[in-house]
Amino acid sequence: KIEVAGLRKQFGELVVLRDITLKVDPGAVVALIGPSGSGKSTLLRCLNLLVVPNGGRIRIGGDAFDFETGKALPRPKAQAKFRSNTGMVFQHFNLFPHMTVLGNVMEGPVSAKNMPKAQAEAIGRRLLAKVGLADKAEAYPDRLSGGQKQRVAIARALAMEPEVMLFDEATSALDPELVSEVLGVMRDLAAEGMTMIIVTHEIAFAREVADRVIFMRDGVIVEEGPARDVIDRPQQEATRAFLSHFH
Ligand code: ATP
Ligand code: MG
Repeated sequence: KIEVAGLRKQFGELVVLRDITLKVDPGAVVALIGPSGSGKSTLLRCLNLLVVPNGGRIRIGGDAFDFETGKALPRPKAQAKFRSNTGMVFQHFNLFPHMTVLGNVMEGPVSAKNMPKAQAEAIGRRLLAKVGLADKAEAYPDRLSGGQKQRVAIARALAMEPEVMLFDEATSALDPELVSEVLGVMRDLAAEGMTMIIVTHEIAFAREVADRVIFMRDGVIVEEGPARDVIDRPQQEATRAFLSHFH
């Protein structure tokens, strides 16, 4: 379960998140939509402390942080534990180029969790099979298509057994014909009950797969609700205007 309350973030004078409050139930899939610059990526980054909020509270699973202005961040160890609750998948895959596909997936469990290599390898091979890449275990990332790289990135994030998977425009950098293989993996994860927050411009996918949709603009949640309600019958003019670009 994820609870965000009163979350605030500003970069210098620019206020990017104002009083963001949301809850994500275990197993729920939430799609975060909104125009460029509305703060979607910043919100995801706050959830794994890539960005340090200026105020508010975040609870993920058993870990909670209070971000009071001027207060120091918790100790590195507590930060690392907090961060390990989330698995993040970015637009650009950020695979380690000097490691094989299997090496990429094993890296987290081995170096961050001190897992024995044989165990990490077994988990890695199982996850690669799950994303349809069992036969690419020994390949290097530069030999893969964008869709394959992104599926490796998903397997790598899953290897850490996160409480929640965070996807930031995971398909935006892909050639159109490669988008569906990545969405397919995301759809399977959702069906298995993985908790997910997905920033996406794939409105049809959000409508189909997400339980809830959150529409953000200018650092504020303008509208949220069941996916089909928000997408088919938006209540706010700003949501209607945004969604009209996708028809
Ligand atoms: P997009 O759809 O284009 O990815 P977004 O909704 O993800 O947009 P963010 O990336 O969260 O938006 O950015 C929100 C605002 O914060 C933007 O105005 C952006 O320029 C600004 N911003 C983001 N990161 C930083 C940073 N590290 N330093 C300064 N400003 C930043
Ligand atoms: Mg973004």
